Amino acid sequence: MAKPARSPTAEALPAAEKSRSAVGSGLRSLASAASGFLDRWSVVGTGVSRLEKTLGDQFPEGEHYFGLENFGNTCYCNSVLQALYYCIPFREQLLEYYANYRNPGDAEENLLTCLADLFAQISLSKKKTGVISPKRFVHRVRKQNELFRSNMHQDAHEFLNFLLNEIVDILEKEFSTVKDSPESTSPGGVANGEVYHLANEVRREPLVTWVHKNFQGILTNETKCLMCETVTAKDETFLDLSIDIEQNSSLTSCLKSFFSTEILNAEDKFFCDNCCSLQEAQKRMKIKKAPQILVIHLKRFKFIEQLSQHKKLSYRVVYPMELKLSSASDDVDCEYSLFAVVVHVGNAANHGHYVSQIKSGDHWLSFDDDSVDKIQESTLQTFYGSSREYSGNSDHGYILFYESVAKS
Ligand SMILES: [Zn+2]
Repeated sequence: MAKPARSPTAEALPAAEKSRSAVGSGLRSLASAASGFLDRWSVVGTGVSRLEKTLGDQFPEGEHYFGLENFGNTCYCNSVLQALYYCIPFREQLLEYYANYRNPGDAEENLLTCLADLFAQISLSKKKTGVISPKRFVHRVRKQNELFRSNMHQDAHEFLNFLLNEIVDILEKEFSTVKDSPESTSPGGVANGEVYHLANEVRREPLVTWVHKNFQGILTNETKCLMCETVTAKDETFLDLSIDIEQNSSLTSCLKSFFSTEILNAEDKFFCDNCCSLQEAQKRMKIKKAPQILVIHLKRFKFIEQLSQHKKLSYRVVYPMELKLSSASDDVDCEYSLFAVVVHVGNAANHGHYVSQIKSGDHWLSFDDDSVDKIQESTLQTFYGSSREYSGNSDHGYILFYESVAKS
């Protein structure tokens, strides 16, 4: 059955509260709408957690720090969920979605509604800290994708990819349902608070969802035939960048290699449409559009053909707090600030543990399944990797989350 067009419910999300400047002003309005006076009561309530004591006055207003229960190797999921929760624009959009979809008769459960419920459960909690069980969400993930059904160790990056793409699919499906609905009387469909004008339906551009708005960037893949010098350019979108790593290097140098010019020759020649034959060529990637949130996946799990299995690279790769993403001769020059690191713990590719180091307000926190602790920013340096193989340190930065900062 077609769903009616959704509109933000005024009582859940007042328009004036939609500003994103402060940490979650929208979130606070949601929270106060749902449990306003109860919140005030809980101030004088029972125990104050250790984390609350540690943070004291530094505990950001309206923020919540909740650990996530582990159901047997679900740390891959927990670590990614925490990074996404503290990705403020993503969280706010998801909570806005939550406020909209909870209209009566709108009850079909999917991965997105489960995620929205989980985020709302945390953000609407009267308690500032605690532990939440993401049982329904994990159950849904396993129902949806058999890859994650077993209790085996999973790849957090694969999971992040699956989750974001799944959300995009759901939003696109909802949007097309709204669009095709004969009951839809307004000329615009509403997908998650965004109004898309459909009066002139000639335009058939791909739908830009809030997942795209946050994470999507565009790469241009340029190939220049060395015979006729014709340049072929092809754009491709990405939600994250998977980067090859080298021993004793930095993220900046790994990115430099990623964007460097590569020669296609020998077995690897390029078919030039102009020459109508295989030719040697120069290939390079350029950033055409930098994403708002830059997610970088360090390729620490390398497939070794002789062993026909993955090996973990414990290489030391230094990642900066502030990153400048530039790709030569282009105008694109974006500055980013690190706000989350998903860390893989362990020396093997097929087992281990995941934790997240996350910046919230002015401090860093370590999320390890159900426990949350304050850490010093300098602790992040211990996750760079090892300069020697088989060193004692097995905790390595694996997925890095950077947010774009306005240039001053
Ligand atoms: Zn050519």
